[in-house]
Amino acid sequence: VPEGHVVHRLARRTGRAFAGSRPDVSSPQGRFAEGAALVDRRAFVGADAYGKHLIWRFDGDLAVHVHLGLYGKVTVGTAPPPPVVGEVRLRMESPEHYLDLRGPSACELYQPADVAALLDRLGPDPIRRDADPERAWLRVHRSRAPIAGLLMHQHVISGVGNIYRAEVLFRAGVAPMREGRALGREPFDRMWTDLVHLMRAGVRSGRIDTVRPEHEPETMGRPPRVDRHGGEVYVYRRAGQPCHVCGTRVRVTDLAGRHLYWCPRCQRR
Ligand SMILES: [Zn+2]
Repeated sequence: VPEGHVVHRLARRTGRAFAGSRPDVSSPQGRFAEGAALVDRRAFVGADAYGKHLIWRFDGDLAVHVHLGLYGKVTVGTAPPPPVVGEVRLRMESPEHYLDLRGPSACELYQPADVAALLDRLGPDPIRRDADPERAWLRVHRSRAPIAGLLMHQHVISGVGNIYRAEVLFRAGVAPMREGRALGREPFDRMWTDLVHLMRAGVRSGRIDTVRPEHEPETMGRPPRVDRHGGEVYVYRRAGQPCHVCGTRVRVTDLAGRHLYWCPRCQRR
């Protein structure tokens, strides 16, 4: 599942491509045919991202809600669109641009009440200017669950995935299994501020970079990381390798079915 920065980039890209147009909307594959017919040729009002959820807004208070899930993919290009290939759930087409959505875990028509219900069950999104970290703190601070798990719960904080959670815990020096209720306000605030900073940088660059200048490959004289996720990180997918800060081997464990990476020496708080 892509992390929030990817969805925000998509919102920006599709918002710019279709703003002010009345795109043709269809479902070549047929599974979104009814919804597509309802927004077809309506004015495209804008695109929004909330955590890992994408919302395309249309005139008449209608919206299309998309969650990419594991396999979803959006292709945006300049018109004319190529012939439909494979299972295209939704195609949007303006005189200038086209967009194909394939394989999402959700693609559905939303009324304003559906959007409100979605926002109600999502925690604040560090990338959004209107995010209220207080809502996340209230949930963290009352929970017995480990902070590493809470960071991934979309109703606590939205948009954070496996990479950002591991990295932000490392950067704050917080032990991943620490209970939410045992985490002080100060480390929470520091992690929130760090997420805002790291995730917004991710929106700008399109990759997840979390190492400080003194730990970059050139500074340390080490080879750059080779990983399809790109970006330089401290612990994510570095199990068994030496920590960039203290040299201890990075550990991995399973938490709620996902790999959790951390440095047992740097993260003891
Ligand atoms: Zn370390």
